[in-house]
Amino acid sequence: MNHNRNGKIFVNFFILTILFYSAIAETYSFSNNNFDKNLHWHNTNYKKCSSQFGDNCYDYIVVGAGTAGSILARKLSDNPRNKVLLIEQGYWLSLNPIVQNASQWYLVRLDPLIERGYVSTAQVGFGNRSIPLPRAQGTGGCNSMNAMVFLLGNRKDFDERWGKIDGWSWNDLSPYWDSIQETISPTQLDPKHPIMHKLLKGAIEIGYKYNPNPNNLNSKQGQGGVSARILMAKQISNNYAERRSSWNAYIQPILPRKNLDILVFTQVTKILFNKNLQAIGITTYNVGKKEYVHFYSRKEVILSAGVFDTPKLLLLSGIGPCNELNKYKIKCLANVQGVGKNLQDHTFIKIWSAPLRDQETPLPTNIFGMWGALAIEENGEYYHGLDVGEINGKKIIQIYAETFHYKSRGSITLLDKNPFSKPVIDPNLLSNAYDINKTLHSIKIARTFLSTKTISELTEDFNEINTPLFHTNDEKKLLEWIQQNIKSDAHPSSTCTMGNRFQDDKTIVVDRRLKVRHTKKLRVADASIIPNLISGNPNQITMIIGLKAADMILEDNS
Ligand SMILES: Cc1cc2nc3c(=O)[nH]c(=O)nc-3n(C[C@H](O)[C@H](O)[C@H](O)COP(=O)(O)OP(=O)(O)OC[C@H]3O[C@@H](n4cnc5c(N)ncnc54)[C@H](O)[C@@H]3O)c2cc1C
Repeated sequence: MNHNRNGKIFVNFFILTILFYSAIAETYSFSNNNFDKNLHWHNTNYKKCSSQFGDNCYDYIVVGAGTAGSILARKLSDNPRNKVLLIEQGYWLSLNPIVQNASQWYLVRLDPLIERGYVSTAQVGFGNRSIPLPRAQGTGGCNSMNAMVFLLGNRKDFDERWGKIDGWSWNDLSPYWDSIQETISPTQLDPKHPIMHKLLKGAIEIGYKYNPNPNNLNSKQGQGGVSARILMAKQISNNYAERRSSWNAYIQPILPRKNLDILVFTQVTKILFNKNLQAIGITTYNVGKKEYVHFYSRKEVILSAGVFDTPKLLLLSGIGPCNELNKYKIKCLANVQGVGKNLQDHTFIKIWSAPLRDQETPLPTNIFGMWGALAIEENGEYYHGLDVGEINGKKIIQIYAETFHYKSRGSITLLDKNPFSKPVIDPNLLSNAYDINKTLHSIKIARTFLSTKTISELTEDFNEINTPLFHTNDEKKLLEWIQQNIKSDAHPSSTCTMGNRFQDDKTIVVDRRLKVRHTKKLRVADASIIPNLISGNPNQITMIIGLKAADMILEDNS
């Protein structure tokens, strides 16, 4: 791919974006001294809202127009009698051609109006490095920035790891999955493409079974169904040109809809409760107008602000561990110990790359990081990507490893009581011997690919290896190399963990109907409710969460 040209287009577009948005918004800089000092109680206005459907009154308020929030707002507003408000902190990303062009996905992260700039605390397991934790703001949320790899996970994730939660077994979720696949219509990369064919052959050589559709969890061909080690040509949620996000698929086709209001550039700073801890609305801050506005809900408030911002909002609103809230002088309305805890993630490490011997055979398109094969090992404990793409005019192949089902658990907490401060995020990855050994093992698996005749035939110069320690048998050195190079794979989850019943476990934040402990008319629907992170890429399960949440909310309010 031509990085220089793309870079120039990006810079030009970025300048235009700044000019355009500076024209409509007065400023992007949030004043630290200007945050909401409102009380939690707003009974007077709320009564007015219940009796008279004023401008700031809605049936449902959805906070965050990301992967789950977009689907929720669409489904809740499918009934024209429901008046729905969708509030998004970022801007209207369907106007941004770089977001919509799948081949430029890696540039989206460079846009400071989209990338939120979260970083972790110093990570002991990563050699005391702080690591970037990419998150997007804007319509579509992270689904407007992600790499579009479309892999749901292993059936065991749901039947064994989620199975104790009524309504969340694979049989319960599979109709939602069918509906999402139909709506998104992902692209299956061509397994017969000459380079892909070689990649697949290389993995078969070392005992992998070819699996044409690991996303069909109902068949034996689903992940884990055929063999503990499978490989596939990737599925991606674009058609080589356009991104297919939940915003694009669920909201864009129904705009404008009279009963759905969408506010962008608007940050929710607090949830409003009445004295019975019933959520009755929210406080928002509008960046352009620099003003606070309250909106009221007649039925429910649903938080879909994502894995870091949903717990942040709960904490700012007085729902969380009281001992933590006391430190920030936030009045504790409900002692919910699990808010912000149980943070889980996957890791990503690029292991090796080399130029392809065949520089002539064209690739279908330059979507590096997406075009290639995936090998899944030990029933979804690891996967390895064998990616092909063009960098600086040269076709190369790379191998990366992702590790699933870590035992490490991290947390997100507040920095202070200012809603405009970034949260303190500690993923705590590789913090125990089990996880360290797991990662070491994933590197060893990756080495086996390089031992195949086919893969070594694919590369121009097998010795051109950019990972000097890759061949060492010295585990201490290998671990040091891992600690310096490993990253979060941007799959954080579980900071408002769902459980079957609150009495089962005090760390549960939402029950199986996604209702927040100790509160009324307040639910969470996004990646933060995931009880155990799945063996795949989380956008798809987050879409399922959005769809299922909509069904439950409509059922409970019918
Ligand atoms: C760089 C990157 C690559 C990824 N690659 C893949 C991949 O290839 N495949 C895959 O399946 N997954 C991938 N993921 C993960 C996947 O995109 C996320 O897990 C998923 O999008 C999470 O959805 P969500 O609904 O929980 O939150 P989000 O999509 O993050 O939505 C949250 C929304 O809420 C808004 N918001 C937050 N706080 C407030 C507030 N106070 N007021 C108003 N609005 C607010 C945010 O601006 C955002 O739009 C990737 C993620 C990233 C960042």
